[in-house]
Amino acid sequence: MTEGTRRRLLFTPGPLTMSERVRAAMGEDWGSRDPAFVDLTRDLVAGLSDLLEAGAGHALVPLQGSGTFAVEAMIGSLVPPSGKLLVVENGVYAERIGRIARTLGREVASLVLPATRPVDPAAVEAALAADPSVTHVAAVHLETVMGLVNPIEAIADVVERAGRKLLVDAMSTFGALDLRSAGQKCEALAFSSNKCLQGPPGLGFVLARESGFEAGRSPSVALDLEAQWRSWKANGQWRFTPPTHVLAGTREALRELVEEGGPAKRLERYQGNFEALRAGCRALGLATVLDEADLSPVILALREPDDPRFDFEELYGHLAARDLFIYPGNLIGTASFRIGCIGDLHREDMLRLLAAIGDYWDEKGLARA
Ligand SMILES: *Cc1c(COP(=O)(O)O)cnc(C)c1O
Repeated sequence: MTEGTRRRLLFTPGPLTMSERVRAAMGEDWGSRDPAFVDLTRDLVAGLSDLLEAGAGHALVPLQGSGTFAVEAMIGSLVPPSGKLLVVENGVYAERIGRIARTLGREVASLVLPATRPVDPAAVEAALAADPSVTHVAAVHLETVMGLVNPIEAIADVVERAGRKLLVDAMSTFGALDLRSAGQKCEALAFSSNKCLQGPPGLGFVLARESGFEAGRSPSVALDLEAQWRSWKANGQWRFTPPTHVLAGTREALRELVEEGGPAKRLERYQGNFEALRAGCRALGLATVLDEADLSPVILALREPDDPRFDFEELYGHLAARDLFIYPGNLIGTASFRIGCIGDLHREDMLRLLAAIGDYWDEKGLARA
């Protein structure tokens, strides 16, 4: 970690604070058809596949755009027009999947579950039993607005037993939580460069069973995963201009992840960040939105103090003036805000943030616990 170069600390769910080495890796220009760049992409895709222990029969397809582009490509390319998608919905990202699938003209059923509780796999099982026309199920591993983790393996087991196919939004877990087993069990899994992988924003990835692809199925040209995969396999080329610098930064981020000791070690660091944050917030008298048992080390959603002197915009400005950036909440019915634990952040960064929040508390005369 090189202090001074990380001027801004982003306590946000992504884009997030990157290390200097990742930022530096983006400083070169690359010719997109040059063999060295083809090797760079190949290296990145192979490394990500290794991390997921994806074997033969699985394709790891890179795609330009933010995470939502990858999710949209996954839905449009894998759910056939004759299929029906059941969206397991306990948060805004699952709701977005439903909107995408409907916009693409796919038949959708939403299983709406409470947004403050992890998905109960039995509810998915019952919904599948009740509707034999469902061919695919979509689920979100971690609903990032709340920081709520869903039991993706148990959901995958239920979907598999029912003979349907599972599509997973693993955006905010890839790089930290273990997705090797889920990756084998599901039809496809989408993630992006700029969350727990700690790369720059601008790239999505879909790990998919090759058997799920069908040429010409996607209703989109640019977001056609099968075409992207076919082109990629043929010559390592991108169909359309690749975000060259982002790819270089993401490859460096992957190297960094491997050097850190892989997702398990990274999760340990996030857990340490989270525990420092949790203890500091408790001391400030801040309550969490979720029950203690459901908290995840990715992002912490906090209730605003019940004191008219507290003003989120003011707190935000106070922290931003110190190059510390937190996230507003947009949780229906709860005045809240969020603090992320992911990125190139360490315990001392969490303590620095907490000290700055403490200064705001003192300035406003807010009560501590
Ligand atoms: C970040 C995120 C996405 C993608 O959002 P973008 O703004 O398109 O990057 C999708 N799902 C989840 C769960 C996320 O956390």
